[in-house]
Amino acid sequence: MKKILSRILSLSLPLTLLGITSLTTYKYHKNYDIYESKNSFSYKENFKKEMELFNDKVQGKILARTPTDNIVTLEVLVDDEVKSFYDDFYNPLDGEEWQDKLLKNLTQASERFNKEFGITFKIGKVDYWDSTEDLYISQLMEVLEKKTFRGLNSKEDIVLAFTGQRDRTPYGGITNYLGKLSLLRTYEETIFNEFDHLIQHELSHLFGAMDTSNGRDSVMDYRSNSTKWDRYDKMLMLPNKDRFKNKP
Ligand SMILES: [Zn+2]
Repeated sequence: MKKILSRILSLSLPLTLLGITSLTTYKYHKNYDIYESKNSFSYKENFKKEMELFNDKVQGKILARTPTDNIVTLEVLVDDEVKSFYDDFYNPLDGEEWQDKLLKNLTQASERFNKEFGITFKIGKVDYWDSTEDLYISQLMEVLEKKTFRGLNSKEDIVLAFTGQRDRTPYGGITNYLGKLSLLRTYEETIFNEFDHLIQHELSHLFGAMDTSNGRDSVMDYRSNSTKWDRYDKMLMLPNKDRFKNKP
């Protein structure tokens, strides 16, 4: 296989010099280069720098139009896979578009908490995290929680960690019930566009809401696209809405 490849390469080199390289060859090379670069050390290093600039831009940002005094601070962690899966092969220079998408989704979910419970989310910090490859989301959660201690040692109230790592299902989340850590997974652009629903769902677990599949008109019903909390969700969440405000 390697021999064939090097033969193709040695054949295509003079053709390229003559300027008659075929479109197929060009696409193959283009994709290959991008794939390589996304898995390279420098891709991660560049992403780390990008996250520092992202932090400068959004640190302290209040994610509500009418802020209340019940401020809950967020640490937002993002791995480089989120960006690399958001950027498609043919448009590798999307730049910071993924940041706008993420912020938009966070703000949408946040506004709903503000309207319903008077909770005001504020970005304490955004940061890079280096997620482990080839793990199920529950294992990845364990890494985040126990091995890196990122989740538990954060000085922010809540840690929302985003990952673009692949798993058996296209997207999903996992949250410490009434804890402070959520892990949210996405790797498809189309799903990233509707990510506010998942963010709202996982954050709700941190305020006491539980999963349901009874066909309720609720963000907690995994078969529903609802962005509402029904009376049962509210019964569970209202006693906990000040849990970060009244922290010791
Ligand atoms: Zn859930």
